[in-house]
Amino acid sequence: MMLARQKSCGIILFYFILVVALAAQTTETIAIKCGKLFDGKNERLLDNQTIIVQGNRITTVGTNVPIPANAKVIDLSKATVLPGLIDTHTHMYLHDGDYNDQLLKEQIAYRAIYASVNARQTLEAGFTTIRDLETEGAMYADVALRDAINNGVVPGPRMQASTRSLGITGGYSPYGFSPEVPMVYGAQIADGVEGVRLATREQIKYGADVIKIYIDHRRGRSLAGDSLTGFPTFTLEETKAIVEEATKVGIKVAAHAYTSVAAQTAINAGCTSIEHGLYLDEATFRLMAQKGCYWVPTMIAYLRGLENPNATPTARKMSEGTTQRHKATFQRALKIPGLKIAFGSDLTGAHGTNARELEVMVRYGMAALAALKSATAVAADLLGWQNQIGSIETNKLADIIAVSGNPLADITELQRVKFVMKDGKVVKNTF
Ligand SMILES: [Zn+2]
Repeated sequence: MMLARQKSCGIILFYFILVVALAAQTTETIAIKCGKLFDGKNERLLDNQTIIVQGNRITTVGTNVPIPANAKVIDLSKATVLPGLIDTHTHMYLHDGDYNDQLLKEQIAYRAIYASVNARQTLEAGFTTIRDLETEGAMYADVALRDAINNGVVPGPRMQASTRSLGITGGYSPYGFSPEVPMVYGAQIADGVEGVRLATREQIKYGADVIKIYIDHRRGRSLAGDSLTGFPTFTLEETKAIVEEATKVGIKVAAHAYTSVAAQTAINAGCTSIEHGLYLDEATFRLMAQKGCYWVPTMIAYLRGLENPNATPTARKMSEGTTQRHKATFQRALKIPGLKIAFGSDLTGAHGTNARELEVMVRYGMAALAALKSATAVAADLLGWQNQIGSIETNKLADIIAVSGNPLADITELQRVKFVMKDGKVVKNTF
């Protein structure tokens, strides 16, 4: 009996040593020497910093950090190092081309292949985390993409998936089809307090990390040509029910809104962010600041409308008017104390060009440092992942990027990201 116990203790000890040895072997230590460092916290670039990464975590960051003997050294001493960027409004399941064709003619499997390419391009552009705000008719395929990325099947950013999003009957695309045509919609259609509760529960059941709603939209067949007008959709009671269901499982609600009236319904119901907010007035921004609701302006999405060579003259005119108003709205928002502006591109194509949004933010008057924070620390807060990502600090996940020049002097440097590390693994290094 005694002998048997000694023997089993020996076996346990052997396996313990083996596991420790294997862990030591697989946990690589990397030392990154930084020329300049934007750590996501300090109000300036820091000099002479070294970051030590062990496995997927940052273990040390500072000056005069001793480099462990076994460490692999990555020399970025001529570069500016930053936390991995975070885009809080993406659509991996959309690509350039006709929206209705994607929903009505492309099968979800085809769109998933596209999405995996979009995810890689987004990651290689330095965006190590995204909040993907709905699949636009591709059902729960974003959950599959998220899981495939997390399991190492395909490369891509860390991802929060919102699945299908919610809209009301007659309140989401595609518009203008005959009542006889059985339709596929870009959002899950739900009406009434009990209807939206059920839909929210369903999305949570199938893996949503965040719920997205359309609190206003263009609505109605006769308005099919005007995509930039917003009419209210969900009532306050419906919106509150959605937020209540989401809050039960600790997830947040993002509201697409163009107008102040609809945005205020969302804010008062407890939504965490307003997406786009093209026409928001000062009172709405003040309410957002007071309630801690984030604004995700997504200006590049509308500016891209001006670059579309296939746009009709009417569509072009509409884009011109809207982008001018959006700019004025952004400048109004910059003057509101305490308003949290989180970076989001809303790219529906040209994935990987997300950082153009930063250029627009700075061109419209935001300080470059504030713009960088909106795409790192502020965005991490919005996602609720502030303890994991958004800054370069001890114990955070090793999501680290680098550019050649000084992004505070030239924000377009972020459009030429040369080094990307996600989760402690180098994804790209073209230095
Ligand atoms: Zn969007």
